[in-house]
Amino acid sequence: MPEGLIIKALSGYYYVLPEEAQEHRVITCRARGVFKKRGLSPLVGDRVKYELSGEAEGTVTEILPRRTELIRPPMANAETAVLVFSVAEPDLNLQLLDKFLVHVESAGLQPFICFTKRDLIRDEKGKHEVDAAERLYSGIGYPVFITSAIHGMGFEPVKEALKGKIGVFAGQSGVGKSSMLNALVPGLRLETNAISQKLGRGKHTTRHVELIRLTDDAWIADTPGFSQLDFMDLEPVQLGNCFVEFVPFAESCRFRGCLHHNEPGCSVIEAVEQGRIASSRYKHYLIFLQEMKDKKRRY
Ligand code: GDP
Ligand code: ZN
Repeated sequence: MPEGLIIKALSGYYYVLPEEAQEHRVITCRARGVFKKRGLSPLVGDRVKYELSGEAEGTVTEILPRRTELIRPPMANAETAVLVFSVAEPDLNLQLLDKFLVHVESAGLQPFICFTKRDLIRDEKGKHEVDAAERLYSGIGYPVFITSAIHGMGFEPVKEALKGKIGVFAGQSGVGKSSMLNALVPGLRLETNAISQKLGRGKHTTRHVELIRLTDDAWIADTPGFSQLDFMDLEPVQLGNCFVEFVPFAESCRFRGCLHHNEPGCSVIEAVEQGRIASSRYKHYLIFLQEMKDKKRRY
């Protein structure tokens, strides 16, 4: 049975791109009833087996094992998340970036960080702030890109990094996500805030997800992900694992399940004091830990 990739799902129809490289027609499929019975439904990003029933129609008969699964946007097999943060307008918000990183790490995706609107760096102080952030995150091991949609700058490395993968992007509204996608995909004309303000309507009103092809084997979802950042299904003990640079130190904490808060013999706290873990990251960790504890108390 032929295999393909679901690139769009809408009103019970699944648009499947056949695996064979030379195939460019999209097969419009229904899903087999058995999925519904099992409470399983195909998602955008799923690799599936399908049966042709016409020239370009068919039925999805099997969903191949998923590597990852996201709820928002609903999609399967995303491997990377491009976290988009502007250096200005809105201001660079590293606490929010760290929160996104927790979500991406806990979903098992590989994060890329993209600082947009480089052209808005006005002075030495701004430049210093962006340089420091780049050093901090690339030091942790995350790829960092700096772009400007105005100057069409810095997008090639982003494209390169997404090769062979399905990606999703995330970030606050107004940071330049749509502009970035427009710069990455020739011919794509997603509405940006500049345009939607002119037309007096909000963006992203469509509910469905669609994969956009960046290169032959690189795909990106056209809808931002991770819109709900409330740590609902994460336990406090798991938070430390999502701060990846804490992990090697956490192994030698005196207590198992150490929350790196005020426990004696905590190697993470020691590493912060020695400057081996950035204090900004630790500060955000403590803020999130408190948020999680407060939430637990409320439910
Ligand atoms: P989104 O809400 O994250 O999708 O952001 P948009 O792509 O709609 O961009 C928000 C606003 O920032 C728009 O007015 C864009 O024109 C502007 N913008 C986007 N990228 C850049 C950039 O690199 N430099 C500057 N100066 N403005 C940008
Ligand atoms: Zn500890």
